Amino acid sequence: MHPVDSPQEAAFRAEARAFLEANAEPLPPWVVAPSAIVAEWTPDEEERKLDEARRWQRRKFDEGWAGIAWPRRYGGRGGTLIEQLIFSEEEAGFDVPSDALIIGTGWCGPAVLEHGTDEQRDRFLRPLLRGDEVWCQLFSEPAAGSDLAGLGTRAVRDGAQWRITGQKVWTTFAHRSDWGLLIARHDPDLPKHRGLTAFIVDMKAPGITARPLRQMTGSANFNEVFFDDVVVADAYRLGAVGDGWRVVISTFMWERLSLVYGSDRVLEALGALIAERGRATDPVVRDRYAAIYATGEALRFTGLRMMTAVSRGAMPGPEGSIVKLLATSMLEAAHTMALDLFDAVGTLAAEVAPWHGEWHAAFLGMPGLRIGGGTDQIQRNIIGERVLGLPSEPRPDRSVPWGQIPRGER
Ligand SMILES: Cc1cc2nc3c(=O)[nH]c(=O)nc-3n(C[C@H](O)[C@H](O)[C@H](O)COP(=O)(O)OP(=O)(O)OC[C@H]3O[C@@H](n4cnc5c(N)ncnc54)[C@H](O)[C@@H]3O)c2cc1C
Repeated sequence: MHPVDSPQEAAFRAEARAFLEANAEPLPPWVVAPSAIVAEWTPDEEERKLDEARRWQRRKFDEGWAGIAWPRRYGGRGGTLIEQLIFSEEEAGFDVPSDALIIGTGWCGPAVLEHGTDEQRDRFLRPLLRGDEVWCQLFSEPAAGSDLAGLGTRAVRDGAQWRITGQKVWTTFAHRSDWGLLIARHDPDLPKHRGLTAFIVDMKAPGITARPLRQMTGSANFNEVFFDDVVVADAYRLGAVGDGWRVVISTFMWERLSLVYGSDRVLEALGALIAERGRATDPVVRDRYAAIYATGEALRFTGLRMMTAVSRGAMPGPEGSIVKLLATSMLEAAHTMALDLFDAVGTLAAEVAPWHGEWHAAFLGMPGLRIGGGTDQIQRNIIGERVLGLPSEPRPDRSVPWGQIPRGER
C-alpha cells in the first residue's frame, strides 16, 4: 500500500496491479522510458512504437482500464483522477508501450469532454480512448509560441462551415495523426485573447500539409503544418465562437497534470543506477539523490492538490505551472546525475551507451520538455504574478484589437 492511499485507493491499486501483472511483464530495472514526446525515433521505430501504443491502449480499453476518470458513456471507467494517478504509477513499473498517444488520451480528449457537444463526444471520445485515432495539438505558430494568444491562423465563417488558412509549427505527430485540435483567429478586430476559436480538424482534409522537421539528432516527430483554405464544418467547432482561449487553458492544464504521472519511475531507476555504480554510500551522491527525490515528492503532492481542485470542478491555477517546473527540474537533475554517474561513458552516443542508451536519450530530450507546453520562463512569470503577486508584465495588447497591433509586435 502506498503511504497516502486511503483503504479504497489501496484496493484500487491492488486491482490495477493484478490487471497489469496478468497483461504485462514487470519493467527491467534498467528501463528509464523517456517520454515519447521527446523520443528520438527513426520513422520505422515511430511507426512500430505507435502501433504498440495503439494495441496496449486497446487492451486497456477492452478491460476497463482506459480513461479511468472519464464517464462510462464514452468508454471510461467512471473513476477519479486520483485513481488515474494510481493506475499510472503502477503502469510505470511494467514493460508496456510508451505514452505515444498521450496528446489525444491525456490532453485533447479531456478538452473534447469538457468543451464538446454531445455529438462531438459521441463521435470522438471512444475511438480516441480505444487507440484507433491519433490526435495532435495545433497551437504554436512561427510567431506565436510563448505568446500563443497572438496567433494568426485565420478561421473565416462561410455559412455552415469555416475556411482555415495559416501555419502551425512544432506539431508533435501531426504526420501520424487522424485529428487535430486547432486554435485559430475568427475575429482580428477583437483583443487577441478574445478573437480565438477552437476546432477539431480532420488531418487528412484537402489543403492540409504536414511537413516533418528534422532535428539535429536525426529524428523528425515535429511538423510544420500548413492550412490552405481548409474547410471545417461548424459542427466541428469546439466550444463557443470566441472560447478558444478557454480551450487552450484547459488543454494546458491537462498537459501539465500528465507530468505528474509516472515520474517516480525515474527516481527508482536512478536509485538502481546509483547502486549499480557502487555509489550508494557516497555522501555527495546521497545528498544529490535526496534533493532530487524531495523535488519528486513536491511534484507528487502539488499534483495531488491540482487533482483535488479538478475533482471539485475548479480549474487549478498556478499549481499547473509549479508542477511543470518541478517535473522538468526533477527530470533534468536526475538525467544529468545519471550521466555524471557514468563518468566518461556518459559522453557516449545513446545507441552504444549502457542501460540501452535510455539515460542518454532522456538527457537529450530534456531541453524539449522544458520548452514544450510553455517554457520555464513563462511558468515563472505565471508564478511570479499569480502566486507571489509581483507586478505583471505590461500588456497593452490585451485591450487593443489584434488586427491593429503592428505585425512584429503581435
Ligand atoms: C518537445 C516539444 C513538443 C512540442 N509540441 C507541440 C505541439 O504538439 N503542438 C504545439 O502547438 N506546439 C508544440 N510545441 C511548441 C511549444 O509549445 C513552443 O515551442 C513553446 O510554447 C515556446 O514557444 P517558441 O518556441 O515560439 O519560443 P518563444 O516564445 O519565441 O520563446 C523564446 C525564448 O524567449 C523566452 N520568452 C518568451 N516570452 C517571454 C516572456 N514574456 N518572459 C520571459 N521569457 C520569455 C522563452 O522562455 C524562450 O526561452 C512543442 C515544443 C517542444 C519543445
